[in-house]
Amino acid sequence: MLNRRAFLKTGAAGLPFAAAVEAVHSNLGLPAEVIAEASSGGGAPKLVPLPPRLAPTDLSTQSWQQNIRRVGQSNMTEHDPAVMNVEEWANYWHSAGAQVVFVSVTGILAFYPSKVKFHRHGKFLNGRDFFGECVAAAKKRGLRVVARMSPDLNWGEALAAHPEWAMRHADGSVQYNGEEPRLFRTCMFSSYMDDYVPAIMREVNSLYDVDCFYTNGWPPIGSLPECRCATCSKLPPPHTVAYWNAFNERVLELWHTYDAIAKEKKRESFYFANLGGNVRCGPNLDRVARAAVWFQADNQGRTYDDPTVWGCSMQGRVSSAMMDGKFATNVTAAYSTGTVRWRNGSKNPAEGTMWLHETVASGMAPYWHFIGSEAGLGEDRRWQTVGAEYFQWTAKHDAHLKTRRSIASLGVVIGQSTQLLYPGPAAAHSGAYMRETTHGLYDALLRGRFTFDFVHEDRLELERIGKYRVLLLPNVAMLSDRQGDQLRAYVRSGGSLMASFETSLYDENLKPRDEFGLSDLFGINKAGDVIGTNGNAYYGRIEREHPILAGFGNTNWLPGAQNRIPVKPVEHAVLTVVPGFVQYPPELAYPASPHTTEPAVVLREMGASRLAYFPGDIERTYWLTGHGDLVRLLHNTIRWLSRDESAVRVDGDGFLEIFAWETGPGYTVHLLNYTNPNAQHGWLESTYTLGPQTVSLLLPEGVKVKSVELLRAESAIPFRFDGGALRFTIPRVEDYEVAAITVG
Ligand SMILES: [Zn+2]
Repeated sequence: MLNRRAFLKTGAAGLPFAAAVEAVHSNLGLPAEVIAEASSGGGAPKLVPLPPRLAPTDLSTQSWQQNIRRVGQSNMTEHDPAVMNVEEWANYWHSAGAQVVFVSVTGILAFYPSKVKFHRHGKFLNGRDFFGECVAAAKKRGLRVVARMSPDLNWGEALAAHPEWAMRHADGSVQYNGEEPRLFRTCMFSSYMDDYVPAIMREVNSLYDVDCFYTNGWPPIGSLPECRCATCSKLPPPHTVAYWNAFNERVLELWHTYDAIAKEKKRESFYFANLGGNVRCGPNLDRVARAAVWFQADNQGRTYDDPTVWGCSMQGRVSSAMMDGKFATNVTAAYSTGTVRWRNGSKNPAEGTMWLHETVASGMAPYWHFIGSEAGLGEDRRWQTVGAEYFQWTAKHDAHLKTRRSIASLGVVIGQSTQLLYPGPAAAHSGAYMRETTHGLYDALLRGRFTFDFVHEDRLELERIGKYRVLLLPNVAMLSDRQGDQLRAYVRSGGSLMASFETSLYDENLKPRDEFGLSDLFGINKAGDVIGTNGNAYYGRIEREHPILAGFGNTNWLPGAQNRIPVKPVEHAVLTVVPGFVQYPPELAYPASPHTTEPAVVLREMGASRLAYFPGDIERTYWLTGHGDLVRLLHNTIRWLSRDESAVRVDGDGFLEIFAWETGPGYTVHLLNYTNPNAQHGWLESTYTLGPQTVSLLLPEGVKVKSVELLRAESAIPFRFDGGALRFTIPRVEDYEVAAITVG
């Protein structure tokens, strides 16, 4: 697809387009002979000019946590007071360069001589103030301390005194922890959260100098609780929008209560909680992000259900969409995550390091996490070097690694309510339906080397989305009338849209609509219910030439998708549906209706806007099949919608994820190398180095470039300007590279 250009034999004078070029070689630069040019595959890239640079940050207006760049956590076990070497623990995190550490207060087990009733002392505590010793050791070294609590579980004596604290099954029985049946699960709607948790917070505040409070284990991430206790039985049924609303009200009520308690001692303290859950976060991201000053993404490693290498960077896109520059971090497990776990053993260094790379590339602060400190600071200590070396590398480059604003002209609406509550179409009910949809689009965007942002459905104001040339709606089934109006305003302002399948066929309460909410915008009308596949899936018959069909020769039809919504005929259809048919026996594998007028895509131009609607679940079908025609069709369509213009372009070989940011000193372009047999399964074990990658950006008028530095290779590289665009070539990318552009 993309070819490498010949190696250049000389320095700046020999660069192509030399006449129009301002070329600078740094003394630290690599020899010109080894710098190759990656071809853009013909023609100068069409670049969207970057907006004027933001005004410099006034550091005095920033909160302390906004300047945190490294977070460390040795998650404490009940046994740690007997075995952990507090001095060694504090020395490790301090010498690694962590600026803040988590120390366990808990709520399940007290790590200090708590007097709060039912706050059971750990059995190895023996009256010792382990928490206080850790806080003192951290503070002595200038580290800030997060008081870590866990309000999700408690013991039998608390249950006997407060049966109303327990989560209950439908038959009234208590819900217990699956691994330790002596622990019951506490109900977030009960007074446990109103009385017990605040009592511990106030006790900690009265005894110690902590910087903020955090709860692990609540609110739930990635799912909603199912409790049938007396209180919850009066709530709307689980898995409904009405329940989600009640859940969100309660989360926000407790969040504000806890935050106020944290601030009773000092104003700069605050409360924050586990978020994570990626696009399928439990609490409403729009609402919780308004309250949160620290987005804690508890997304520690790959799982069997979510085996993709980009799990952390996808999470970073979520927090970046929500936090508007407030602090965010992703908890990276140094221990062995996965379906089979070893929580006290190190994971592959290449895997843990990639998760840290993704954290940094997607605009979050790296956070390294291990569990338990047997034998002083762990029986397995291999994770310590990995984390310390990583932290020390980031510390050299904090100015460049701290992001200010994403550079992207493409937005993806993540549809949180659809992710959480939509059960998939009747033809394919599945809890994994939206995950497959999202990964399909994500994979396609990475393969097309698009830079993009996530956009939350509750943040569709024109001031926010006006920066995007194109918005993608991957089966965003649930959309309110107001959200529809916001998308109309976006299109009226010149924005372009792509949508698929059931997008806008439900309102914000998951009530099916008779007609697409965005029917007028896309020029589509529903002609029936979802049609699934029984045997051979449907095709799209090519009716006429169009840029979205570029590269498809020697065929009359293309694969459609697994499921589709039939829509009424339109004029000048580009693809029409050939309905599915029998796939076995092969004797019957031929189309009963080889030609219909049902569109398989609807394309439209309105003023400066372009619109594309696919009636099929094309993104998800791509994820299920890996069919190259589907990814080509998606790429062609996005390029047609965007007129092939992008804010940043990276040409070269390999499978990369790209992030680009405006920073304090200038700009950064991050390249994550996923060209690896373990990109979609298991853990990374080795790195497969990529060759040259040529980066092009159109800087705002008047912005001068001082240098382009590679932060992983730790060398400066030459750059030049072609027709106003900044261009430079990164000679090689191992697992990760960051090109840092300093302007001035
Ligand atoms: Zn309950």
